[in-house]
Amino acid sequence: MTLPANDPALRSWVPVPDGSDFPIQNLPLGAGSWNGGPPVPMTRIGDRAVDLSVLAEAGLLDGLGIDRTAFDAPVLNPLMAAGRPGVRALRERLSTLLRHDNAVLRDDNDLREEALVAVDQVVMQLPVAVGDYTDFYSSRQHAYNVGCMFRDPANALLPNWLHLPVGYHGRASSIVVSGTPIRRPMGQYRSAPDAPPAFGPTRQLDMELEVAFITFDGNALGERIGTDRSEDHILGLVLFNDWSARDIQAWEYVPLGPFLGKNFGSSMSPWVVLLDALEPFRTASPEQDPPVLPYLRQQGPHHFDIALEAAIATADGRETVICRTNFSNQYWSMAQQLAHHTVNGCNVRCGDVMASGTISGGSPESFGSLLELTWKGTRPLTLHDGTTRKFLEDGDTLVMRGHAGGRGVRIGFGEVRGTVLPALPYL
Ligand code: CA
Repeated sequence: MTLPANDPALRSWVPVPDGSDFPIQNLPLGAGSWNGGPPVPMTRIGDRAVDLSVLAEAGLLDGLGIDRTAFDAPVLNPLMAAGRPGVRALRERLSTLLRHDNAVLRDDNDLREEALVAVDQVVMQLPVAVGDYTDFYSSRQHAYNVGCMFRDPANALLPNWLHLPVGYHGRASSIVVSGTPIRRPMGQYRSAPDAPPAFGPTRQLDMELEVAFITFDGNALGERIGTDRSEDHILGLVLFNDWSARDIQAWEYVPLGPFLGKNFGSSMSPWVVLLDALEPFRTASPEQDPPVLPYLRQQGPHHFDIALEAAIATADGRETVICRTNFSNQYWSMAQQLAHHTVNGCNVRCGDVMASGTISGGSPESFGSLLELTWKGTRPLTLHDGTTRKFLEDGDTLVMRGHAGGRGVRIGFGEVRGTVLPALPYL
């Protein structure tokens, strides 16, 4: 799809540092507060956040099919009522206002200074009021690795895996924005396969490197969304860390799946990169063998080439990159995930979050969890300071970054980070 805002030749009057994740071709949406005010919808260009409530108040966002009051809301949900066409029109308008040869905002000193603010002055919030949260399990390599560790290589993939995008319903209440500390959870686990259950702080705190998409209002209850229309219901993507307590998970998950090993926290990057901005980075979906059932068939490329990495920063702030992978390492596309999610008539709503599942590639350094990177703790990682990790320690900060690039423009996500706090004592 050709969109004017995606033109790699576009330049802005706002300075954009070399290598920035946020050139004029990106223009993500988020919600942030500054100068003691309430959170408002924002976009970002270079190292500046742009307060959309100011632009709306000045009448610069009229005529987009978005009610002006939506730009005073603390989250993007009211704005998203305009659907993908409305958000596309908003991004095109912002692109026009910020391009180098447009004087409307550039030459209005008062308005410009009121609307543009240094990002380090902004406190970012969760971009949306999250409705429901679903987590998929769509990386074949990840499913294979876990299957090898907990079963055997010959039967690593369970019989359903190649026929449907496996997923489960997660917990929306504990999704937090980047920068929010994560408290080490307490729970039940077994220290050996035949040992009685013990209770205490998890001894196997892990990350899961994922990308999540956020939905517009979708289908009515009882209706479904086909693969051909799925992407019309996607606002955009964020980085997502699905923190996991492996020892708690291993003991509790039979027979109904993840529960307390997962629901103590999931971290999200604050800027939603719109699907339209990622259009130039669409890439072929993998051939699926055996063929999928008709409702999961899709035409054309529905994967996206997004480089991803994860790093552990120790208390001194220094980082060691522990994983480099790519969002295209997915067997099931977002279009297939959404089609599957709704094929039974389950309704999807504005602000629902659907995470990809851990994204692991074919090489050991591209595995998206410590479980895999250390192969269940048998191959500890060595960090920059010489210390080793099987799983995360108190005080560790987990940082994830991602960007698409290589076609004359870089579209990035910034980062999602969270620091591990010690467990609260049980009194
Ligand atoms: Ca997950």
